[in-house]
Amino acid sequence: MNQNCIFCKIAAGKQEAVLLYQDEDVTVFKDINPQAPLHVLIIPNKHISSINEATPEDQVLLGKLLLTGSRVAQEQGLADKGYRLVVNSGRQGGQTIFHIHVHLLAGRYMTWPPG
Ligand code: 5GP
Ligand code: ZN
Repeated sequence: MNQNCIFCKIAAGKQEAVLLYQDEDVTVFKDINPQAPLHVLIIPNKHISSINEATPEDQVLLGKLLLTGSRVAQEQGLADKGYRLVVNSGRQGGQTIFHIHVHLLAGRYMTWPPG
């Protein structure tokens, strides 16, 4: 655990968040500043700063983030209508929290290209 990382603290139960799911590998919680009717973040419990720091060893874990996002969308009844999974990477990519996370956005029409 990275002591200065807010998402590590959420995964460890040391920082308040609305959890939707947690297991030994991943944690899913509501985004504090939702950009869609459903906006949750799927994170690995292990600290990885960004996709740039991920290694081949993380391959299964990274896949699990996507599959967990899909499962949560299904559980929330929003999978058939469609949804968006997003990984912002680095400053120009819009990443503000440097613990890798997948955004799941659903419940409204998304636009393309993103801002
Ligand atoms: P990024 O910009 O790094 O892709 O996304 C970071 C996301 O984390 C943002 O959507 C932001 O609203 C969310 N966020 C930042 N701090 C907290 C927090 O303390 N709790 C929760 N639940 N979400 C947070
Ligand atoms: Zn972290």
